[in-house]
Amino acid sequence: MHEVTIAIAMAEELTRIAAENNASAVIAVRLKIGQMSGIVTDSLQFAFDAIKLEHPILYSTKVEIEEIPLIYKCRDCGASFATETLYFPECQGCGSCSLDISSGTEQHIDKVELEV
Ligand SMILES: [Zn+2]
Repeated sequence: MHEVTIAIAMAEELTRIAAENNASAVIAVRLKIGQMSGIVTDSLQFAFDAIKLEHPILYSTKVEIEEIPLIYKCRDCGASFATETLYFPECQGCGSCSLDISSGTEQHIDKVELEV
């Protein structure tokens, strides 16, 4: 399960951030997860809830997940648009298939709240 690997990396990263800041606990963490990242946010939350029990500093950490929509930008007409279509989308303005992904692939920690 992909999400378990991510949750373990997240727990390690949070433990490191807490240690660097001499924090006694991590209160909350905010994640940005793109629609295109392939991460199932419910699974990630579930995996993190299990893993945090191994890290006393994360016992009461609240996880907030911001899902970033998939946005494409057309190379031909410059239009930006959101879509649910992950495979072979077309520009909604001109029908071109020459597109760049401008957001939706994120998977990172956006903000951490620490108890110092
Ligand atoms: Zn276009």
